[in-house]
Amino acid sequence: MGRLRIVKGKIFEVVENDLHYYSEASITESASDVYAEQGGDGISHSGDPGTPPPSPTLSKCAVFFRPTKEWKGEFGFDWIRVGDSKMETDVAYNGIIGHYGDVYATKKEAKFTADPKKYNTILKDYSTFSVYKGTYYVPNMTLKVGEKATLDTIIHVGEKADKLHYAYNTDIFELTIIKKFTVAKGINYDESSLIIKCKKTFSSSETIRVIATKNKITEKVGEIKVLPNDKIKDINILMIPVKVVKMNATGAVKGNEKTIAVNAFNQAYFKANIFEKSTPIIADGFLFNLFFTTKDEKGNIVTDTSDWRSIHATLDKIFFEDKKNEAYREYYRVFMLPTSLGLNGIAEDVGNVKTVVAFANRNDSSTAHEILHAMGLYHTFDNSSPYTFKIYQTDNIMDYTHQTKNPKTKAWKSRFSTNKFQWKKINKDIK
Ligand SMILES: [Zn+2]
Repeated sequence: MGRLRIVKGKIFEVVENDLHYYSEASITESASDVYAEQGGDGISHSGDPGTPPPSPTLSKCAVFFRPTKEWKGEFGFDWIRVGDSKMETDVAYNGIIGHYGDVYATKKEAKFTADPKKYNTILKDYSTFSVYKGTYYVPNMTLKVGEKATLDTIIHVGEKADKLHYAYNTDIFELTIIKKFTVAKGINYDESSLIIKCKKTFSSSETIRVIATKNKITEKVGEIKVLPNDKIKDINILMIPVKVVKMNATGAVKGNEKTIAVNAFNQAYFKANIFEKSTPIIADGFLFNLFFTTKDEKGNIVTDTSDWRSIHATLDKIFFEDKKNEAYREYYRVFMLPTSLGLNGIAEDVGNVKTVVAFANRNDSSTAHEILHAMGLYHTFDNSSPYTFKIYQTDNIMDYTHQTKNPKTKAWKSRFSTNKFQWKKINKDIK
């Protein structure tokens, strides 16, 4: 219980438990005389003041946007996942963000601990506003000029609005409404209901909003933030087949790996130019054969994993012995090996390197994964990542979910998405 008393111009506010003040804008306090604070256990001007309760909203509805189940990362879409989409892998972030102990996440004995504080930190990376039933975390989208994004809409309805409409810059975007909002009381899921096309480049963030009208009062009930797309960077990638003389075999491009890489870089506003060397480099001789001296239990020659740094240096050394290849010094170089081991591929390091190795049994998403390591991204389940996610729970390219199967279809799951915190890391123009 609390009470507010006004006595001769003085205001006394007394509560028995905690008292919180939250403002949607700033809080200003000033006194002409003394400004005094007293705390029984001291005064803290830091720490986490907690999340403000949602302010009352008029419209009892909210509209959320999700990629469709067909999305393979053709455009960037990053949101606080709550597990409400139709996508194959979509686990709520609350509970899968935390940290691992000393044992690395890929090991069976690894121990993951969810961390609510870390979850609260990631929430702060998104714009918010108050909406029916709570706080709305605005998704971040990247969409290049000329590209289209098809989205699902989820409409939560407590009380029907008089009208729902989209508000956006019509010079920049063209919206095609495939299906009008379903507004039955409860939760309505409209699949592939909206297509957003970007017609023009723009240099500061744009929003696409859903506005509800109720009793002639308008209120925002849904939003997507589209990041500026006027600075697309080129990224040059050279796929280099490696012939291992000792095995009489040559590495080659695999399945959809080029498309998955183009999509992955698209999400962070890069244009990936992927080239392929038509003639293989020949890996032979004493130095290189050092890597192919190990045999598996069936007697097949496999790669010796004892010194990874040296394999990158060795491949680069062979490659640059041909002076014509100097032109590729600034390219990301993907050395495609014909060998297979437990590994898909390996980057020379995390960040500031250009060379990656791709093994024969790699997944279609491995090449993009390795180049992203070379550009500075850690595994999403690594404690060095800005946010550490529980392994196998996301479709992020930097997760290992492709090593798990869909329990219904028994097919291997795919990974293709990236988050804004990763876009920012590899592209300094993304804020
Ligand atoms: Zn990796």
